[in-house]
Amino acid sequence: MNPRPIHGASARPVRTAADPRAWYARAALAVLWALAASAGDGLAQPLGPPHPFVLAEKGGLPIILTSPHGGHLAPDSLADRSCDACILGNDGGTQEWARETADAFERATGRRPYLVINLLARRKLDANREIVEAADGDPHAESAWAAFHAAVEEARADVEARYGRGLLIDLHGHGHPIRRLELGILLSAIDLSRTPDGLNSLYGRSSLRALAERTGGLAALVRGPDAMGTLFADRGIPAVPSAQDPFPGPGEAYFTGGYITQRHGSRDGGTVDAVQIEAPGPGLRDTPANIRSLALATASVLEAFLARQYGLVLDSRPAPRPAAETCLELESVPAALRVRVEPSCLAAREPAARIIDVLGRTLLAVPLQPGSFEIDLDGFAAGLHFLVIDSGARRSARSFVLLPR
Ligand SMILES: [Zn+2]
Repeated sequence: MNPRPIHGASARPVRTAADPRAWYARAALAVLWALAASAGDGLAQPLGPPHPFVLAEKGGLPIILTSPHGGHLAPDSLADRSCDACILGNDGGTQEWARETADAFERATGRRPYLVINLLARRKLDANREIVEAADGDPHAESAWAAFHAAVEEARADVEARYGRGLLIDLHGHGHPIRRLELGILLSAIDLSRTPDGLNSLYGRSSLRALAERTGGLAALVRGPDAMGTLFADRGIPAVPSAQDPFPGPGEAYFTGGYITQRHGSRDGGTVDAVQIEAPGPGLRDTPANIRSLALATASVLEAFLARQYGLVLDSRPAPRPAAETCLELESVPAALRVRVEPSCLAAREPAARIIDVLGRTLLAVPLQPGSFEIDLDGFAAGLHFLVIDSGARRSARSFVLLPR
């Protein structure tokens, strides 16, 4: 990394001659690895080897959040999927839902869940399918698929080793006419409509198998007063199944859970359960403010569900964090990045903030000032970037994704 001369905050980004589509250049991996290695300096710890198209963070809670259909990257170096009957459209806002939920947990508990995000658009990779349909034969997409699922496997193993049990939540969006969350645990609408005893007998086919074995009843987990759907509905977000809406009626569209829920839940073994949550767009995924509200509710529901069903009570006092982590807060606003820097973090004589891309190239360098300021991002390419703040002996970094405009 060669820091460039410092420009004013409104300076245009510095362009380089390298081909921006060279995603697989060794340099990309080297840069991500170098940043990941500075995890104690404000980055979440990585899960598994770094991959340019997969964001995988190690957490400090027995919760794994996955986002397979919310990626924004669509480099030309990957072919568009063209398989018959393949779904190519993204679940809008679901990557942001995952990130905001992780942030909400961190604000409430001082710890973040495990996070595994497919950064590629669905027309390049569908991480919620087996590899043939997922990647449609593109070797780069296959490599991203493998990295995504290896990261989830590592997260599951880590959660089992540290907490003994845990919960994976796979986040999606649906366009069905009934505006309610659809919680999928691999059981059909007809299965869910059975009597309590009938439903309890199906626990071995569900992605909540391990939890149901411990608690002795699937029906209570699905439509009892402390069921996940009930907890959402109690917070003003209708959900099926729940005490309020126990099963989808005849002819009503309903997603039962896909490849991630099948592969990474507890149906086939292990003690990490899985639930696929599908959210409607209007009022929940359609604006940044609505996504943030949905994320706050999601974190609140999951915290209550863990406490009441798993007996895992999260310490609500923020854990002490390394000072560097509190140096930097990022908020994206249209075409700009709002940065807040703690004055105490500016020990260096000439502190600077740099924006670098996944190839490690410095795109922009600005002098740093305490408090809030905005960095103009007009003219930057879409994709994963990092804001790096060097202030004396300490380096803080945060990743952010620029959406196509
Ligand atoms: Zn989806």
